[in-house]
Amino acid sequence: MSLMRSEAEELDRADPLARFRERFSIDDRYAAYMDGNSLGRQPRSAGDVVAAALEVWSDSMILGWRDWIRLPIRLGDRIAQDVIGAREGEVIVSDSTTVNLFKAAMAAVDAVPDRTRIITSDDNFPTDIYVLESVAQQRGKELVILAADEVEGLDLGLLERSVDDRTALVALSHVAYKSGALSDLAGVSQLVHDAGSMMLWDLSHSAGSVPMTVRELPPVLAVGCTYKYLNGGPGCPAFTYLPHELQGQLRQPIWGWFGHRDQFQMRTDYDPADGVEQFLTGAPTVLSLVTLGAGLDAIAEAGVAALYAKSQRLTDLLIDAVDGIRSEAIQIASPRDAHARGAHVTVRHARAKDVVRGLVAAGVIPDYRPPNLIRFGPAPLYTRFVDVIEAVERLEAVANSIGAD
Ligand SMILES: *Cc1c(COP(=O)(O)O)cnc(C)c1O
Repeated sequence: MSLMRSEAEELDRADPLARFRERFSIDDRYAAYMDGNSLGRQPRSAGDVVAAALEVWSDSMILGWRDWIRLPIRLGDRIAQDVIGAREGEVIVSDSTTVNLFKAAMAAVDAVPDRTRIITSDDNFPTDIYVLESVAQQRGKELVILAADEVEGLDLGLLERSVDDRTALVALSHVAYKSGALSDLAGVSQLVHDAGSMMLWDLSHSAGSVPMTVRELPPVLAVGCTYKYLNGGPGCPAFTYLPHELQGQLRQPIWGWFGHRDQFQMRTDYDPADGVEQFLTGAPTVLSLVTLGAGLDAIAEAGVAALYAKSQRLTDLLIDAVDGIRSEAIQIASPRDAHARGAHVTVRHARAKDVVRGLVAAGVIPDYRPPNLIRFGPAPLYTRFVDVIEAVERLEAVANSIGAD
């Protein structure tokens, strides 16, 4: 491990993104934070932007809305440009990922009413599957849950054989939340589009960690989370991508005044806006939206391509270090090919819960995913290569003290 530590120190010295670490609020209370994929760290500027918004509230009261009302659109445009490669006017920030999934899935299914099936995979995030079950039940569709490989993700051939002219919607995660397996965004989108079906991507684990250009895809819908790699803060609202080609054609099911063509005419009949604004519902959560702005500053400056390049090195090092642990009890449960995974690495251990408890006590914060998985999400904006070595050294010590069963 000491050889690896000097290799890690060398990687840190040569790291072009190293300067971004000081943009985040970090003390030495914990040896290594390995959970940037669940809740990104706090940008140092977050406190200032919240204080500024509080001041507008106290000074201007309701007049503050003159500016706040555009936040879902303005931040959406920033995500479009700096994170997912969409065009202006195609992304909004509102509600939770779960709610946005529901709106997008209902709108998609209603756009192809004669089709009867919704397809997803069993490695999709639980909330995604619950939402799809609900949509299927409410619209009288059949939900088909394909079996994905626990490590490598959903097989493209299986998907291809499953999509046909009965398929209304295919809803998948770009990066699998457990194993980190990366889907073929372009290949899958094309396959689904060619079958005349709607495609809905969940970008929660790839937004801000894997580069993409959604405007080059056939028209698909997407949603994603902002409190993971985008560092928006706990409960920060999610984003929805609705390309221009689909705008005006889809209708989402939560008819609120923020989605109305003439919100402040206060009419009693609902007339949806033409643009992506139609997917807004009610008043935006202003204090969370301003912290998202702080999170996006660093992402935009670093660039997702550079973040991805560093995260591949971080996770390669993590896998090498875990391989170096002499313990039969630990196995890598993520794709070993860096091009086949997102930015986190998952380790299998029969007593994962005890291992995670031991790690947290030893100053390392990973994620526990029952029953036997431990997730390490070294976020490239602020995680150092030596942090990875710290984490794995402590993993080895904890695992040795626990044993296999
Ligand atoms: C984190 C995550 C969510 C979170 O949903 P919320 O409604 O914002 O709590 C949803 N889907 C996926 C794939 C996620 O990774």
